[in-house]
Amino acid sequence: MDKGKMMDSIQIDGQKVELEAGYPVRFSCMEHIEQELDDYVNDFEAAPDTYPAKAIDDDAADKRCRVCGEPGQIALLKEKGM
Ligand SMILES: [Zn+2]
Repeated sequence: MDKGKMMDSIQIDGQKVELEAGYPVRFSCMEHIEQELDDYVNDFEAAPDTYPAKAIDDDAADKRCRVCGEPGQIALLKEKGM
């Protein structure tokens, strides 16, 4: 399965947010958010920061749910220094 997209930074509500190296940006629909939170912790041993997908401005981000491919509602990522 797709590991998620590795990015150095991302635009959230128009603000540039630096991302922790080695932690991808993933998206989930409401149905799969519990599973995605568990997967993120299992894969990276860190709880992700979550944002509404619509707050993510970056057009380069693939906002489809990692599990089912439906439009993602929640973004999972790891902010630098958090
Ligand atoms: Zn889904």
